[in-house]
Formats: sequence, C-alpha cells, structure tokens
Amino acid sequence: MFILENLKAKQIYKIFINKDVIEPTSKLKYQQKYPEYTFEWEEIYSIPYKATIDTKHREFQWKILHRILYGNSSLYKMQLVDSPLCIFCKTENETLEHLFFRCKLISNFWMAIENSLKTEQILLSRLLEIEVLVGITKEIKYKNLINFLIIIAKRFIYFCRYKKNNACKQFRFILEKSKTYRIY
Ligand SMILES: [Zn+2]
Repeated sequence: MFILENLKAKQIYKIFINKDVIEPTSKLKYQQKYPEYTFEWEEIYSIPYKATIDTKHREFQWKILHRILYGNSSLYKMQLVDSPLCIFCKTENETLEHLFFRCKLISNFWMAIENSLKTEQILLSRLLEIEVLVGITKEIKYKNLINFLIIIAKRFIYFCRYKKNNACKQFRFILEKSKTYRIY
C-alpha cells in the first residue's frame, strides 16, 4: 500500500498509467456473437460523438455499446417482467439483437429506411445487423449521417417498445405506410 503523502507527482502519475485497463465485458460479448466481424473499437466508441451532439442520443448509443440497455429477455432473468418475449412479435425472446434487427416487424422498418436512403443515393448497400447495433465503421460516404439515422431509428424502436400499446400502434401505422414512408 502506498502512503500518498510520501509520493511525488511523477510517482503518482506512474501508478495511474501502469494501472491495468479493464476491458468492458460488452466487447467480449459482441465479439463472441459476431466472430466474423472485425471490430474497430476506437472508431465504434467515437461514433456517438461523431454522429450527434444530442446527449440523449449519445447516452442511448453508449448503453447499447455496453449492453446495458435491457430488453425483456434480460429483464425476465432479473425477474422484473413476466415474459422474456418481444413486445412487438411476441414470439421470440427480446434480446438486443432481436429488438433492434431480427424481429420481423423491425426488419420491415429497416427495409423502409434503407429504401429511402437508397432512393436518395445515401446508402448503397444493406445494413448489417452488427452495423445497426454498434454503428458503421467502414469508410463510406455519409457515414456520420447514416450512423445518426441508425441511432434515432433505434431510439424510435425503443420508444415504441417502452410505451407499449400506444406507440406500437403508431409504429405499426408507419410500417403499413412503409412503401411510401420517407424518413425526411
Ligand atoms: Zn419480435
């Protein structure tokens, strides 16, 4: 144990910089779930700051990156809800992956967004599930804009999920109109 008063500033500095950096457990979880994907973590962690100046958007994306935004699957394990099932389809467990990408209702929603962006020549290829979750790191045109749109789309999904019935109706209405739906 160190006695702080006996240490010089240089020694204190050395102790801090030599401290082991604890990697977030979420990194490992993402890598296990997507073993084929090359994660550029520095870039991924910078996305919330590059894509938006809104602190709520940043905080929301940060929670997804650290996997501390919970769906029914986790809440059920914590005994906080009665069912692990997805609020939208009610057939699959509501994991982060399911809620934000795999759910049938949600995939229609992404398709509508992708089609709008393709029409405007902003997006040239389909979004990958992992890109929807952590953001796009590859060098493409309009990267910050697309990452921004991904974040607000996920916030909208989560808002609908959180508000349950009322917002779900609104969400379903948008999906029904998705053929003509434009996001701006
Ligand atoms: Zn679902």
